[in-house]
Amino acid sequence: MTDPAHPGDRLGAVARLAGLRDVIARRARDCGRSPDSVKLIAVSKTFSADDVWPTIAIGGQTRFGENRVQEAVPKWRDLRARAVEIGKTIELHLIGPLQTNKAREAVETFDVIETVDREKLAASLAREIQKRGKAPRLFVEVNTGAEPQKAGVWPEDADAFLALCRERYGLGIAGLMAIPPAGEQASPHFALLGLIARRNGLKELSIGMSADWPLAVQLGATYVRIGSAIFGARGEK
Ligand SMILES: *Cc1c(COP(=O)(O)O)cnc(C)c1O
Repeated sequence: MTDPAHPGDRLGAVARLAGLRDVIARRARDCGRSPDSVKLIAVSKTFSADDVWPTIAIGGQTRFGENRVQEAVPKWRDLRARAVEIGKTIELHLIGPLQTNKAREAVETFDVIETVDREKLAASLAREIQKRGKAPRLFVEVNTGAEPQKAGVWPEDADAFLALCRERYGLGIAGLMAIPPAGEQASPHFALLGLIARRNGLKELSIGMSADWPLAVQLGATYVRIGSAIFGARGEK
């Protein structure tokens, strides 16, 4: 495999992205869904602005995901500025855990925050959104596997947490996000998330990564978050 960090592979990312768009559209049709109903988030974490740029400039990708606020802020300040010059608008998703003390930066930097999972964070986000008059779309992360070390509200607490976000903090919640436990069948987790979304009137489901996106599309994903299948393997951090 070519080293994705090597400039020679930057066009590889563009080609893999194009191929992936095709297979996602085909998969959606095979599942009786409109191809437009499944949106691809290119997960660019750990890759440099220069690695990512060709997927915007040549690949036409505008929707990206990052998991760390600190990494995303300088990188996307640069990339957004470059994108504007060629008439493209970026939609940046935060898909990693958010610390309360980074709520301000997150509201300023991200268009979608997918990892709302506790009252303290909901309160901070509500405050920053009001102060800044800028509201990212918000998703609640659900820890479908109830893994103690993992972020996300537990499935049995999801309905109450959604009501709290909406009623006490006035937050509009657009959808749900989940990361199924590693090494387990993803389908029950995707199905559970879909169930919680339906009974709470939520339209968006962010599920599916490089290894399991076809299943996620079948089970109702409106966003799939794909990194390594586009940019290549990441060095462990
Ligand atoms: C890194 C990451 C992804 C992308 O994972 P790949 O296996 O590289 O496609 C998706 N979702 C989250 C939350 C991530 O942190």
